[in-house]
Amino acid sequence: MATMTRADEIAANLVAVRRRIETACEAAGRSPDDVSLTVVTKFFPAADVRILADLGITDVGENRHQEAAAKAAECDDLGLRWHFIGGLQSNKAAAVAAYADVVESVDRVKLVSGLQRGAQERGASVDVLVQVSLDPPDADHRAGAAPGELAAVAEAVEQADGLQMRGLMAVAPLGQDPAVAFERLADIRAEWLQSHPHASELSAGMSGDLEAAISCGATRVRVGSAVLGPRPVVK
Ligand SMILES: *Cc1c(COP(=O)(O)O)cnc(C)c1O
Repeated sequence: MATMTRADEIAANLVAVRRRIETACEAAGRSPDDVSLTVVTKFFPAADVRILADLGITDVGENRHQEAAAKAAECDDLGLRWHFIGGLQSNKAAAVAAYADVVESVDRVKLVSGLQRGAQERGASVDVLVQVSLDPPDADHRAGAAPGELAAVAEAVEQADGLQMRGLMAVAPLGQDPAVAFERLADIRAEWLQSHPHASELSAGMSGDLEAAISCGATRVRVGSAVLGPRPVVK
C-alpha cells in the first residue's frame, strides 16, 4: 500500500469531520450551511496550515499568542481568517488584534481597550465573540465570563471603534457531560439574543463534542485533533 502523505491524511480527516457535522445537522433538523468549521492548528506547523488552505479551509484557530503571531505572519499570503481562541492577557490584547480577524475569548471589559487599539493601528475591523463560562460558579479556574457579566462585556465591545460584536463562544467544562453544559449554553444564548439579536454567532464544539454543540445551536465548531491528529503533550 502506498504511504499516505500528510495532505492525504488531513484530507481524509476533513472528509470525516465534515460528515460528522452534516450528520449532526441532520439530526438537529438544521442545514449544514448553518455550521462553519474552524480548524484549530495550535501546535501544528505552518506547513499544515498551507495544506488546510489548499483543501479549502478558510478559518483557522490558535490559542497561544506567540505561536499564533508567528504562524499568521508566515501564512500571510493565504488569505485565511485567524481566530484567537485562547486565554488572553490584557497586555497582549493589542498584539493579538494586530493579526487575529476574530477574537473569540473576550471575557472581560479590561481586554477591550487593547483590542480596540490593535484593530485601529492595523486599520482593520476585528470580530469579537464573548466567551461565556459554563463552569460551576465556584470553579477555581474559570475561563470565560459568568453569564451575568456578558452584557457589560458586550457593551464595552459595542462602544469600541474597530470591534464588531458577533456572538458568543464557549468550551464545555472538563469532566462534565458536554450535552448538559451545551444545553445550559443554549439557554444563556436565548437570553443573550433578546438583547443582542445581531450577535447571533455561537462558537462551540470541538473534536469530542461537536455533535452535542450542534444540537444546541452552535454556528461554528472548532476542531483540532480530529483533523490534524493528536497534539504533542505539553510539558
Ligand atoms: C484546542 C482547542 C480546540 C480544539 O480541540 P480539539 O479537541 O483538538 O478539537 C477548540 N477550542 C479551544 C478553545 C481550544 O483551545
